[in-house]
Amino acid sequence: MAEVCEFGPERLESLRTVLEEGEVRIARVKGAVRYPARFQLVMATNPCPCAPAKDADCTCSSTVRRRYLGRLSGPLLDRVDLRVRLRPLSALSAHLSEPPEASAPVRERVLEARERATKRWAEHGWLTNAEVPGPALRREFALPSQVTALLDRALERGAITARGADRCLRIAWTLADLKGADKPEADEVAAALNFRERSSG
Ligand SMILES: [Zn+2]
Repeated sequence: MAEVCEFGPERLESLRTVLEEGEVRIARVKGAVRYPARFQLVMATNPCPCAPAKDADCTCSSTVRRRYLGRLSGPLLDRVDLRVRLRPLSALSAHLSEPPEASAPVRERVLEARERATKRWAEHGWLTNAEVPGPALRREFALPSQVTALLDRALERGAITARGADRCLRIAWTLADLKGADKPEADEVAAALNFRERSSG
């Protein structure tokens, strides 16, 4: 979804339940119809309504900027695992930077990581890290406390919700899989947390 802040809050909020339950339910006279809806949600937004080419050219007041991004509610954002701030691509930076990695090796890496995850969870009937329920992540597959120290502190000071913490753990497992490691270490947990805390403001 591009320009996600331009969608009304009601439409955005309706995504929340769908994301959580992986299905769309539509109430009908004779009961409800259910449609499967497992998908990857990618949302993009400008930082403000004037969408300047350079940050310095923005003509919006801070209240306007805040209100614009505020259209994305906390509960919806809480279900977004990776938040990335993109810098405008200038002619100069496009010229100077390394050419991007080709898709084929990236695909290979992703396939290997998914295979690791599938093997690990196979006996439990889960295929991906995303499917592992929160309680299993926290109990049966709990990571040592020195590995999750940063995450525990973020939870304690209320910087992250319990749901957010579970999502963070899943990302940490994925980062470990991408690295070819058996388990996430503190680095992977920190990186997962960093993706989540990186605000667009
Ligand atoms: Zn602006």
